[in-house]
Amino acid sequence: MSRHIIFKCPRTGMNVQHRLDEVPADKAEDAYRSVNCPACTLTHFIHRRTGKLLGEA
Ligand SMILES: [Zn+2]
Repeated sequence: MSRHIIFKCPRTGMNVQHRLDEVPADKAEDAYRSVNCPACTLTHFIHRRTGKLLGEA
């Protein structure tokens, strides 16, 4: 299973939809996942649960 999250690309300001794989409970501590951003083609780190960017308040 997977789910979609939406994050805001910090470079372009665009809202980007991204599919995340479901996280097994025993791996919940590995909270951030690198995603290839289709908006700016760079890599962002997204929190698996909240969909927030790494370093975002
Ligand atoms: Zn981006």
